[in-house]
Amino acid sequence: MPKPIVSVTQFEDAYQSVRQALDLCQGLAGLEHGDKILIKPNLVSWDFDLPFPPYGVVATSAVMSALVRILVEEGFSNLTIGEAPLMVPKTIGRAMYKKLGYDKLVDKYGVKLVDFNEEKFEKMDCDGYALSIAETALQADKIINVPVLKTHNQTKVSLGIKNLKGVINRKSKMFCHNKDTDLSYIFPHIIEKLPVALTLIDGVFGLAKGPGPTGSAERRDLIVASRDTLAADVVGAALLGYSADQVDHLVYFAQRNGGSTDINDVEVRGLDVAQYTKFLDYDWEWTKDNTGPVGYEKRGITGLAVRKYDSTMCTGCSMLFNPLLIMFMSAFNEKPFPNIEVLSGKTQTASPGYDNTVLFGKCSHDLNKDNPHINKAISIKGCPPDLMEFERLMQAEGVACNYNEYVKYRHYLFNRYKSEQGFDLGLFKI
Ligand code: SF4
Repeated sequence: MPKPIVSVTQFEDAYQSVRQALDLCQGLAGLEHGDKILIKPNLVSWDFDLPFPPYGVVATSAVMSALVRILVEEGFSNLTIGEAPLMVPKTIGRAMYKKLGYDKLVDKYGVKLVDFNEEKFEKMDCDGYALSIAETALQADKIINVPVLKTHNQTKVSLGIKNLKGVINRKSKMFCHNKDTDLSYIFPHIIEKLPVALTLIDGVFGLAKGPGPTGSAERRDLIVASRDTLAADVVGAALLGYSADQVDHLVYFAQRNGGSTDINDVEVRGLDVAQYTKFLDYDWEWTKDNTGPVGYEKRGITGLAVRKYDSTMCTGCSMLFNPLLIMFMSAFNEKPFPNIEVLSGKTQTASPGYDNTVLFGKCSHDLNKDNPHINKAISIKGCPPDLMEFERLMQAEGVACNYNEYVKYRHYLFNRYKSEQGFDLGLFKI
């Protein structure tokens, strides 16, 4: 059997680099001129209130623009870009398209922009899981998948197969983070329902400790392309320093679909993968006794046990977990916290011996509200929870969590890239 082809090219001029990547893997060979083509970039989220460093978090507009231009030049004119970004709480797809300059693709090439969150979804049987997939994705003749070269704190890497989780509705996304089956064994079913003809990994930036802006980005200047999504992901994972065998969802997808997670079973064209591999860590280190990030221990924080999130915590709570950690840090005044345990997600239950138990999010509240180990519950019941409510309830307990410290942290996150070469916001604007 011929090996799937994956091209890896250096990102220099966006147009030339994307074209070279497509040429090397015959990336457009699966498309026909009359095809209704959906391009699905990773535009997982944006923040219009606080500074948002997009590096390694969302696809660059430079790559998206180059891809659209090449498609049009090659005679593919029925193009739609679609995504269902995180609802905060309302959908922000159109605002994101505007921010990223996609309006120009509409004006110049007649591209249609769709925010799946505003469209209809169809419930599909994904091997026993009922997931609601955007009709636009189901009705496309072909899909071009544009993930970002990033790690993910729950799934190790977030590449082509994971990027298609963005075509399901909010409820289904939450369902993927359920307590009975790990996330990694649910979302790979989505791509099986879709006519993905090409995967183009935007590796202009790579992201450690992703998937959000609290991760740490690096300029990587890579483009990866393949008509075979698994093969593209195997190579993408390798470039991030992971063997695909270490990534549960890649192993699962390969088993189900007869592919291989061995990079030796891929024909790589272009750059030498080993030469461009650089390990990016995917997760935050926690203390051995699961009382908080190692950074808390180093600072001498005691009296506080923040249990490490698990894969049942969905993106809504995930995006707020780092703020929660920062806000606890803001309340640290060199004295022990008042014996607090903090729980999140759908499986963590209260331990005995704590005076206060923070239940972060509706799921944690529902699971623990009658738990006899709890002396005093501090429930932040929203779905996702509200940080201002968290601040207020903690302050009422004499714990001076301060949202403004988180705001300062966000400015720090944004500003830390300013002096670094290649961190150009112009790459995110057409
Ligand atoms: S409370 Fe959090 S983990 Fe639970 S469904 Fe809502 S966002 Fe997801």
